[in-house]
Amino acid sequence: MRTINKRIILIVSVVMIFLLFTILLMFSMFSNAREYALKSVNAHLYENGVLTSAGEIVDANGIKLAYTQDGERKYNNDPRIRSSVLHILGDNKGFISGGIQDTFKNELSGYNIIYGVNKESKNTLNLTLDAELCASAYNELGSYKGCIAVCNYKTGELICVASTPSYDIYNKPEDIDTNPDYEGIYINRLYGGLYTPGSVFKVVTAMAAIENISDIYNRTYYCDGKDGAIICNDVHGKISFKTALNQSCNVAFAQIAVELGAEKIKEAFHKAGLDVSYENNDRISTKASILNITASDTDADIGWTGIGQSTTLVNPYSFLNFMCAIANGGKSYEPYFVKSAVNENGRKVYEAEPLDSGITISPTTTSLLKELLRSDVSDYYGDYLFGDVTMCGKTGTAERDNGLPHAWFAGFSYDDNFPYAVIAILEDSGSGLKYAGSAASSIMQELYKKTIN
Ligand SMILES: [Zn+2]
Repeated sequence: MRTINKRIILIVSVVMIFLLFTILLMFSMFSNAREYALKSVNAHLYENGVLTSAGEIVDANGIKLAYTQDGERKYNNDPRIRSSVLHILGDNKGFISGGIQDTFKNELSGYNIIYGVNKESKNTLNLTLDAELCASAYNELGSYKGCIAVCNYKTGELICVASTPSYDIYNKPEDIDTNPDYEGIYINRLYGGLYTPGSVFKVVTAMAAIENISDIYNRTYYCDGKDGAIICNDVHGKISFKTALNQSCNVAFAQIAVELGAEKIKEAFHKAGLDVSYENNDRISTKASILNITASDTDADIGWTGIGQSTTLVNPYSFLNFMCAIANGGKSYEPYFVKSAVNENGRKVYEAEPLDSGITISPTTTSLLKELLRSDVSDYYGDYLFGDVTMCGKTGTAERDNGLPHAWFAGFSYDDNFPYAVIAILEDSGSGLKYAGSAASSIMQELYKKTIN
């Protein structure tokens, strides 16, 4: 009897261990099934590492940007649209990181725990972008490297994103890895770019001045064209704070920066949300801007920093977000462009929830900054340059040791019924107003005609 009992105990133990392992294995398969199914070696979705089967991606007006036909991944018919949305979609071979064909593959493939991936996925990914406007921005950038983006400052929805250089996915250049014209082509500069800001940085210095120098609006500065190492773009003579921003007087702003000191500038940089790497709704992480300034810096160094010509590097996405916050009363949503994903029955399988960017600027500071940026356009650049759009903004002509300046324009519409902010950067081009200002104006006017009329 004792032997039989021992045998029964042994058999039961073996069965129990077997069952335990089976349960563990099944649990692991279920919990990781999505990952197993979506691996790029999975022949249902990928062929030789290339995405072949996934749902449609459409712009805000229902224009198809990518879709699958007869097991082949297809793109929009217009080569301008294909080139302008390349960085947004990704190249489907993995050279361009952060493209939504990769980061939203779960939603695109219609993955289901029972049936696995759907070989003929009917899921649709809806974007907030206007593909025609993206193509226009791509044209505005022309042969310059750079980026343009437009965002609804009330909702955080991006309407337009373009980054150059780019290429047509149907005609990838053969010399892409050796031709300097294509340098950095795999990067979307809006998210991954870092640039010397030049005079757009004066908006940060102006914010620090408004909050820390109580009589800043009664101050006058004197500019005779230079102050020590700081060279101005003109001889401005006696000049007020507001006019100094309008006319971008380096001497006045360097003096303001020195009076503020390193800590107050650093504080404003942080408040503007520039020192942050954003992890946004579109599953893209942005580069954090860089400010190298300490209390032990010389006055000349602090002066250069205050006018955006030191070692400071600014990320375009975070500066656009800062513009949105100024336009929107001191708060903003992180700009994003993937709105929702629906399955073939019209059921939403993904819907973006706008993310608070964390920026908090007081209503008083915000409205003063808004009026200053409005007066840059109305009192100095000229409203006629922006057609029917009542613009606020600041230009930057970021001087560099080698080559032409990087041209910047950052701004927004003053009109709440047309709530859009814009950023434009054209590398190695020239004057901020002439190159970036005119590109930004053209895109904002095109959007205005579509929206208002
Ligand atoms: Zn000056």
